[in-house]
Amino acid sequence: MIDTLRTVFGFQTFRPNQENIIRSILAGKDVFAVMPTGGGKSLCYQLPAKMTEGTAVVISPLISLMKDQVNSARENGIPAAFMNSSMTAEEMSDVYLALKRNTIKLLYIAPERFAMPHFLAALKTFPISLFAIDEAHCISEWGHDFRPDYLSLSLIPKEFPDVPVAAFTATATQKVQGDIIQRIGLRTPLIVRASFNRENLFYQVKPKSRVESQMLGFLRAHHAESGIIYRTTRDSVMETADFLASKGIGALPYHAGLSPEERNKNQEAFNRDEAQVIVATIAFGMGIDKSNVRFVLHADLPKNMESYYQETGRAGRDGEPAHCLLLFGRGDIPKVRYFIDRIEDENERSILLRKLNRVVEYASHNVCRRRQLLGFFGEDYPKDNCGGCDICTGSVEQIDITVDAQLIMSAISETRQRFGIGHVVDIVTGADTKRVRELKHHEIKAYGVGKHNDKQHWRFLVGELLAQDMIRQEGDPYPVLKLTQKGLGVLYGREEAKALKRQEVISKTKPAAGSGSGQYDEALFERLRRLRKRMAEEHRVPPYVIFSDKTLHEMCRHLPATLPDMRRISGIGDAKLERYGEEFIREINKYLDENPDVAVPEGETDNFGSRVGVSKAGKKGKTVEETYEFFKKGMSLEDIAKLRKLSPSTISSHLEQLIREGREVDIDRLVDPAKRKEIGELFLSMGQWALNPVIEHFNGTVSYEEARIVRAWMLRGVNG
Ligand code: ADP
Ligand code: ZN
Repeated sequence: MIDTLRTVFGFQTFRPNQENIIRSILAGKDVFAVMPTGGGKSLCYQLPAKMTEGTAVVISPLISLMKDQVNSARENGIPAAFMNSSMTAEEMSDVYLALKRNTIKLLYIAPERFAMPHFLAALKTFPISLFAIDEAHCISEWGHDFRPDYLSLSLIPKEFPDVPVAAFTATATQKVQGDIIQRIGLRTPLIVRASFNRENLFYQVKPKSRVESQMLGFLRAHHAESGIIYRTTRDSVMETADFLASKGIGALPYHAGLSPEERNKNQEAFNRDEAQVIVATIAFGMGIDKSNVRFVLHADLPKNMESYYQETGRAGRDGEPAHCLLLFGRGDIPKVRYFIDRIEDENERSILLRKLNRVVEYASHNVCRRRQLLGFFGEDYPKDNCGGCDICTGSVEQIDITVDAQLIMSAISETRQRFGIGHVVDIVTGADTKRVRELKHHEIKAYGVGKHNDKQHWRFLVGELLAQDMIRQEGDPYPVLKLTQKGLGVLYGREEAKALKRQEVISKTKPAAGSGSGQYDEALFERLRRLRKRMAEEHRVPPYVIFSDKTLHEMCRHLPATLPDMRRISGIGDAKLERYGEEFIREINKYLDENPDVAVPEGETDNFGSRVGVSKAGKKGKTVEETYEFFKKGMSLEDIAKLRKLSPSTISSHLEQLIREGREVDIDRLVDPAKRKEIGELFLSMGQWALNPVIEHFNGTVSYEEARIVRAWMLRGVNG
């Protein structure tokens, strides 16, 4: 398994749960797995497919994605094909032929095919190693995108009793999980529920003020990165896309009002890194497999936590840092409410309102965003500080609410923790209600202590204290407020309580997104990105199918000089190494030649050891020799640079090396003797070999290259 992981996929270790799932499949056992987007589900079936005899059948609902999935597999050297309704009869019979010859490892098909009896009959004549059902929640009517086609998948375990079935999804409540297992008919499957934490995502909420300039500022900080901007209405999508385009940003719109052709075109352009940004309504997202989405910006309030998680989840599938920013304005709340209010069904309306409140709380409370998101899905986040959100990194302004918190909690405590939110707020604000009078609560100390603020203020505070776990609700259907240990600490003045500042705050601190995973050379990344784009066009696949951003980042950090070095970069298996290795090494070498100041990381762990030695002696040696040949033929430094498509400073560095090595170089052709003398004297009078003072002294009449060559010449004299 490890061997296949390394040689085929180019990864060193498994992500959480992958190994378990694969072992189970290889043992012929069914699997049901809930893993978040970017969790690495495809590897869970591609790897066993590659390892076992026969063909693995992958059921996937989106025809638009099949092609990319097949291409991705093929890029890794796994023979793959798909079958769907968009194919001609001839293409179809080609696939059947390949199946018959047993040359396909992965076959992607749409679910509706399973309703065709002749297809099942045909499938049975081939050796099938495994069935993988992607987006398995589509089989459940409880889920959010039920597809009747999926129901016919229940035939699989019946028709293929000996073949393991693995079902995958990124969204499934316990109820949906049970439904999926039962409907497909999985046979005592291994059940995996992975954490939904997306470690590489940085979550941030900013008060919304001037949206356009806020978006622009954000995009400037993320220039040349792919990202999605979500807006609620079609009009705002169009306006934003136009605005950004007018500022020179490659932004395209996407919403249900555009023609399918236009939507496709824009999505494709985004997919292929031709448009930097896609501005979209929530209509955009299904069928997006692009792994290098570096940011998701919500310019309007998302309608609930599920959508927010799902939409932000499209960022950073490659595991590299990505930034999720929500611009939150209270003014957006009535807009969402407006839609909700028009819903007839009272029950549904109240559910939607509750969901809306939950997002508002998410944005307003002083609680780790990650903790809140995960908590929403019933997952306890174990760490106190996630280090990946604006709250935990302290990049938001907080206010002290200790006094207000104490007022509320003393009202709760004085009434012996026996009342609910409404009554507690009535006490604090000194409301004259029948209940207050009956219980004689107007006679207690806490009565009216918070008169100076309105009920809304105190309700919000109760919400904040609940969110921060200083108080909790207990009892059903009439929950009462209880103090927690943490709350008591605040009540007795041992601890402070903080909340987010609600007014407009301009955060000066740049969020620490990405700070965790190491720096890389951005100029080189840009070049490798361009090369990737070129290769992608040649091979007619989206760029991220060639290499993920993560892979390119690693190349920039480690500067691989040889194929074995390249092989150690994450995401490069044997097939990709052979196809692209040389080309990318060439580009890196070229870059290093042109930028001699770039520090080559030393030591085994950083650059795998070989560039320090090999590049200087080997690769670099070769290019220096080439320069020498041209120079000996009488060409000038500038002409050599032009011919070799290298910068003059690279060529002068070659000549410098040749001179220092004591090779025969006609120095007069490079710097005329009088000038050489002047420069030389200056070096001697300075008593040091720094170049900058020389350039400054001559006020532009001596170039950097000339100074460098004279220095080399003089040093050569010294050495002997
Ligand atoms: P999902 O389908 O769960 O959203 P994918 O299968 O698309 O996730 O995988 C997301 C990304 O993670 C891909 O770029 C994939 O190559 C990468 N990946 C998967 N497994 C590993 C691993 N073990 N190590 C490193 N990267 C991995
Ligand atoms: Zn946090």
